[in-house]
Amino acid sequence: MEASLACKRALVTGAGKGIGRDTAKALLECGAEVIALTRTQSDLDSLVQECPKMLTVCVDISNWEATENALKDIGPIDLLVNSAAVAILEPFLDVTPEAFDKLFDVNVKALLHVSQIIAKRMKCRGKGGSIVNLSSQASRCALKDHAVYCASKGAVDMLTKVMALELGPHKIRVNAVNPTVVMTAMGRIGWSDPGKAAGMLSRIPLGRFAEVEDVVNTIIFLLSDKSAMLTGVTLPVDGGFLAS
Ligand code: NAP
Repeated sequence: MEASLACKRALVTGAGKGIGRDTAKALLECGAEVIALTRTQSDLDSLVQECPKMLTVCVDISNWEATENALKDIGPIDLLVNSAAVAILEPFLDVTPEAFDKLFDVNVKALLHVSQIIAKRMKCRGKGGSIVNLSSQASRCALKDHAVYCASKGAVDMLTKVMALELGPHKIRVNAVNPTVVMTAMGRIGWSDPGKAAGMLSRIPLGRFAEVEDVVNTIIFLLSDKSAMLTGVTLPVDGGFLAS
C-alpha cells in the first residue's frame, strides 16, 4: 500500500512478537520513526538486529508507574498502535479471579492508560494523531472458553468508540481492528488443535485464517491519511466470519 508516513513518529505496544512486531517493521518501511514497546528485552534485541533504526522501550504496561516512567522521555508521538494483550482460555464455570484480573489489566486497563498518556500529549501538541487498538472478532461473537477474553475485547471496542467521541475534536482519530484467528504465538494458544481449527475455518467464508500481513495492512491504512474520515470504527479483518 502506498501510505507515506514520513516525518511521523509511532509507538507500538506488544511489538516483541506477532502483529505488533510486524506492524512496527511496516511502519519503519513507510518512513516513520518507530518506538517498539514490549516487556521481553530479548525480543527487542532481535528486533533491533533486524531493523537497526528501531527505537525500543522495555516495560510491562500492566505496571502503571513503570509505564509512566518509561514513556516520559520518548518525545512526540503521532501514531499509536495498542497491540499488547494476553489470552487465557478457561471454561466459563472455571474462570479464576487471577485470570480475570490479568486479562483486564493488560487488554483493557493498560491500553486505556497508554492511550491516555499519548493522547494527552497529542492534544497539547495540537497536531492531531491516529490511534489503532487491536480488538478481535471475539468482541462480537461468543467463542467457547473465551469468556473473559471476549469480554476484554468487547471493552476495547467500546473504549475505542468513546475515545473517538472525546478525542475527535482534537483531530485525534481512534479505530479498532477486529481480526479472526492469526497463527501467532497467541493464535496457537487457541487454535493449534486441528479439529478446533477446522470448526473455525468452516465458519469463515474466505476459508482461511488471517495472515499477520492482512492485519498489518489494515492497521497501516487506519493510521494513514488514506482513512482521514474514519474514526470510531471497529473493523473486522475476518474473511467474513462476522457477516455469517
Ligand atoms: P502475541 O504474538 O502473543 O504478541 C503479543 C505481544 O504483546 C508480545 O510481544 C507480548 O510480550 C506483548 N505483551 C503482552 N503483555 C504485555 C505487557 N503487559 N506489557 C508489554 N507487552 C506485553 O499476540 P498477537 O497474536 O500478535 O496479538 C496482537 C493483538 O491482536 C492482541 O491484542 C490480540 O488480542 C489481538 N488478536 C490476536 C488474534 C490472534 O489470533 N493472534 C486474533 C484477534 C486479535 P511477551 O511475549 O513478552 O509476553
